[in-house]
Amino acid sequence: MTAQIIDGKALSAQLRTEVAARAATLKAKSGITPGLAVILVGDNQASQVYVRNKVKACEEAGFHSVLEKYDATMTEAELLARVEALNNDPSIHGILVQLPLPKHIDDHKVIETISPAKDVDGFHVASAGALMVGEVGFKACTPYGCMKMLESIGMKDLRGKHAVVIGRSNIVGKPMAMMLLAANATVTVTHSGTADLGAMTRQADVVVAAVGKRNVLTADMVKPGAVVIDVGMNRDDAGKLCGDVDYDGVKEVAGFITPVPGGVGPMTITMLLVNTMESAERTAG
Ligand code: NAP
Repeated sequence: MTAQIIDGKALSAQLRTEVAARAATLKAKSGITPGLAVILVGDNQASQVYVRNKVKACEEAGFHSVLEKYDATMTEAELLARVEALNNDPSIHGILVQLPLPKHIDDHKVIETISPAKDVDGFHVASAGALMVGEVGFKACTPYGCMKMLESIGMKDLRGKHAVVIGRSNIVGKPMAMMLLAANATVTVTHSGTADLGAMTRQADVVVAAVGKRNVLTADMVKPGAVVIDVGMNRDDAGKLCGDVDYDGVKEVAGFITPVPGGVGPMTITMLLVNTMESAERTAG
């Protein structure tokens, strides 16, 4: 069997076209342009690329976007004051503080200062809590993107399916597990303390790998026909971007697979647009 590829680039393009149409409709009906503010502190190279891509995606969707760049010497109090100001800015519907922050700033304090109504990254405790109890909030973008990929292959309702999540971070693994549960899957969450990872993944109809290590999932660990979603972003020996999954091996066993690059990566920014759109629509009532 050779797996079908779930093309994150193509799905993103389709979803972004839909978001642009929603933005145009909202503007025409209520005069509201969805607005995203992105704050970058310091000069982390990868972060610079991420924020540039986020701002570009906003512009392409017809959003208003603000990029605030600050020196690594910015104090925590100064950053908290900027977040508060954006909380009170009616032209801004989503606030994203790019992580990691310089060491002297407490990430958690900053995220918790973002108004839950504008927490389009979905990292606030209120957003995580809303997801846990099935209330309206914002879903963390990366796992939300993975759910959209499953939906795109007809797997919106996962009743009767077993999903195994590899990794339990607050930004990917845990919210991923919650979203899979909400879609009626039976969910197993694995991590570095899991004794026999392969024994778990071989039972899975859906495997989501979110570890940050190459070849965590190999062909012998996958049930024939399973859906494999690769969140990982690593570099191979040649310096090329690759995921957590041994793609060449696993694609011969899986039914569906996401590539890296061109899989989950583009979906993350797309879901940020979707969340910001949703936030602007909520303001309009
Ligand atoms: P993280 O915070 O480092 O979490 C990694 C998780 O993997 C931890 O829960 C860890 O277990 C678990 N783990 C480590 N080694 C393991 C092993 N051998 N077997 C099973 N589990 C193992 O990472 P993250 O922030 O969730 O990110 C994970 C990956 O996704 C990274 O490559 C990151 O770059 C990528 N990512 C991609 C996107 C995207 O848009 N494509 C977005 C976010 C993250 P313990 O909890 O026991 O330590």
